[in-house]
Amino acid sequence: MPMDDVVDGKKKKTTAANHLHNQQEETTTEWYDQNQRDLPWRRINNSDEENDDDDKDGSERRAYAVWVSEVMLQQTRVQTVIAYFNRWMQKWPTIHHLARASLEEVNEMWAGLGYYRRGRYLLEGAKLIVEEGGGFPKTVHTLRKVRGIGDYTAGAIASIAFKEAVPVVDGNVVRVIARLKAISANPKDSATIKNFWKLAGQLVDPCRPGDFNQALMELGATICTPLSPTCSACPVSGQCHALSVSRHSSVLVTDYPLKVVKAKQRHDYSAVSVVEILQDNDVIAEPQSDGIFLLVKRPDEGLLGGLWEFPSVLLGGEADLATRREAIDRFLNKSFDLDLKKSCSVVLRADVGDYVHVFTHIRLKMYVELLVLRLKGGMNALHGKLNSKTMTWKSVDSEALSNMGLTSGVRKVHTMIQKFKQERRLHHLVGQVKIMQGLTTHFKMVFISDNLSRRGGYGLITFQVEKGSGKNTNSATKPSPGSKAGKNLTEVLVFVKFVDLNDEWK
Ligand code: SF4
Repeated sequence: MPMDDVVDGKKKKTTAANHLHNQQEETTTEWYDQNQRDLPWRRINNSDEENDDDDKDGSERRAYAVWVSEVMLQQTRVQTVIAYFNRWMQKWPTIHHLARASLEEVNEMWAGLGYYRRGRYLLEGAKLIVEEGGGFPKTVHTLRKVRGIGDYTAGAIASIAFKEAVPVVDGNVVRVIARLKAISANPKDSATIKNFWKLAGQLVDPCRPGDFNQALMELGATICTPLSPTCSACPVSGQCHALSVSRHSSVLVTDYPLKVVKAKQRHDYSAVSVVEILQDNDVIAEPQSDGIFLLVKRPDEGLLGGLWEFPSVLLGGEADLATRREAIDRFLNKSFDLDLKKSCSVVLRADVGDYVHVFTHIRLKMYVELLVLRLKGGMNALHGKLNSKTMTWKSVDSEALSNMGLTSGVRKVHTMIQKFKQERRLHHLVGQVKIMQGLTTHFKMVFISDNLSRRGGYGLITFQVEKGSGKNTNSATKPSPGSKAGKNLTEVLVFVKFVDLNDEWK
């Protein structure tokens, strides 16, 4: 089969094309045989005998594993994906298991991977394939009919699991081919992308298409890297036009492919209110106890579609505290029928800080506040008022919140809140100790024993005081064994009784 060779975007027929072509296939797959990374999805082979009743064909197990791994690997590093992939396969080892899952479960499993639509499409695709009952689609043509499976994923599944001689083109393959062929055209341009697919299709090994495609991707990921390719260890360096050009000019291999200036990120701003509702008349026994938190589900379509978040409002731009609070008040009023002046008492409203979350095209600055409320009529009043048709929401306690699969942005906000509360608790304790000890001079807290603080409302803190400056001879104190206090400081342990955190806020 003649191959169109391309140098600097110009086509020329090479007489030795077939020979070179075969040589490239062989050297690339041979190199892959010896150098491929041991990755969990590669261990699920077509010949796997551990099939269950739902999945009698090992190639379908492989197809499923390739599908899951390739979707996870889009925009995410291999090292990150490994743990996610293993957890996923443990929970849903076959497409039939996945088809029985809920979106909630998938989102939880996906939490932290980003681009949550990918997980949703996997679930929808699995349901569709299982419902249709015809087995796993085996060709690019049939795979492309499944929502969420694009050219790349279809090519990967069809070639790796079902041995269809089709190409796969991702960023790694584009880089390798651009260098092999010294293509300096814009790799984002649709005509150039088409050309890469065509060239990859000409290169693919019809006997071992899956291995060849993986070899090309592996080469791009490990040898022909974006900034520092290891050409000396490259199995196809003898056929690399970029390397050849670089030897006779000032051109570098890293000049290929052309660097495309990234689109400018949009800057968004939002006010996030972590609304914590204390149960009316409920005495909280331990200072670590929390109230109930409100979570709102985002619309199914769009950024982070269908995922849970704390109540938040998109702002027009940077906004001062008063403007942010007004926006949140309006949102709570409209969405929850909550009037902060009439339907509840505000126990605490504190600005916790801000956090910038970066998406591919958006840089979102979140202003975070903690809003602790007691509702007149308790949670029942809230449940009775809400119209679930306009907004999906739920209330969860602190433990459930910690165990939920939250997006990394929401998780970060939750951590900010926990840290803020912990610091408030410590400050309060310092005040208590100061009173207990009658200390009037400066001292610095260095540690709090969190475990002890959970037992019966008693806690243990260690802090430093200047020697002789305080009346630290109270029987409640004793020197700390193995103290590392400095020359002029002494370290003391103090047992304290925790107060109800909510008393602090009154
Ligand atoms: S020789 Fe260098 S630039 Fe060319 S494909 Fe190999 S690693 Fe990439």
